Amino acid sequence: MIPSAGLRTALAAATGDRIVYDLAGIGERYAALVEELPGVAVRFALKACPVDEVLSQLAGQGAGFDAASPNEITQALRTGVPADRVHYGNTVKSDRGIAEAYRLGIRDFATDSLEDVAAIAAHAPGARVFCRLATSGEGALWGLSRKFGCSAADAVLVLTAARTAGLTPAGLSVHVGSQQMTTEAWQDAFEQLGEVLETLGRHGIRLDHVNLGGGLPALGYQDRHGRPLDPPLDKMFAVIREGTERLRELAGGTLDFVIEPGRHLVADQGAIRAHVYRLSSRRQPGGERQHWLYLSCGKFNGLYEMDELQYRLVFPTHPDAEYVPAVVAGPTCDSDDAYDSEHARVPVPRAVASGDPVWILSSGAYATSYLTQGFNGFDPLPCTMVS
Ligand SMILES: *Cc1c(COP(=O)(O)O)cnc(C)c1O
Repeated sequence: MIPSAGLRTALAAATGDRIVYDLAGIGERYAALVEELPGVAVRFALKACPVDEVLSQLAGQGAGFDAASPNEITQALRTGVPADRVHYGNTVKSDRGIAEAYRLGIRDFATDSLEDVAAIAAHAPGARVFCRLATSGEGALWGLSRKFGCSAADAVLVLTAARTAGLTPAGLSVHVGSQQMTTEAWQDAFEQLGEVLETLGRHGIRLDHVNLGGGLPALGYQDRHGRPLDPPLDKMFAVIREGTERLRELAGGTLDFVIEPGRHLVADQGAIRAHVYRLSSRRQPGGERQHWLYLSCGKFNGLYEMDELQYRLVFPTHPDAEYVPAVVAGPTCDSDDAYDSEHARVPVPRAVASGDPVWILSSGAYATSYLTQGFNGFDPLPCTMVS
């Protein structure tokens, strides 16, 4: 159920704005994932929720971490996980960052270029590297393409160069794009991984693991008309189980798998308690009259992804209301601070008044990491845990 009973109680009890996480719910989502994908190690992409209590919950259940900077590595290690359950998953690194990660005990590094391999060889001698393959990000609501990953041909060059430089060419990785909505993207990723593994084999490079990246969806987002998105999660799990089996056969049975979910583990287990600034109606020159719902919380204090991902709003003080379609916007003086105002309309109780509470559901992913510091004087949201 979204929100869980625990979240609902905490949201109802809140008197001011805050973000609430259901730790037990996060633990349950993790346990369900481990059961769906036996033999796949889960490393939480901590940028999705860099909150100590959340990390400790997951570490306590056996999760490792995908970290993207020395500070994230330090935060992950603070949970007490051994360094070999943490990898440096960012292909974008400085010399100093690599050296610092190495000093902290990290031995697994993502890479996608010859320049990065040379830097890893110089500052993390003997480390294990896994090469990220580029994906299109198609089918994802928050695509992660172009900036990361290389072609199959480059992967051969990169991993060969790693071997020559005294590193261990250890694996391949992909990321199908965040909030991936299609099973085809996963199928394509496995096909691509299979082809590259075969090509590498012909060059005498045998890898010991494949990192499947993130991209598993949250379940509680809506489309632009306020309907549930309903991603085909069970089918995705089936495709991943089949794909891992096929790759293991191809590799002769000795391939380990890692998956790095971020959003899937925390989005539905977090919610924001915000409040209504104003429901107003304006006609722009030459346009039609339009309702706008201004909230205390928007793109710069937790909802950075609000253009691509529509959250379900609950108005707890207006259970059986007459609704009007409105554009939802945050409180800052930036016109970007609004749900895609060209298209998205959210049903809002006509009678809402300034100060009324509003619950923004499934907003647990990337909310705390995307809080700006005092833009227009709006403070970052305080954080509360439910367990
Ligand atoms: C952000 C990120 C993830 C997590 O992505 P989700 O879509 O939130 O699951 C995983 N791996 C890497 C390398 C990332 O950058």
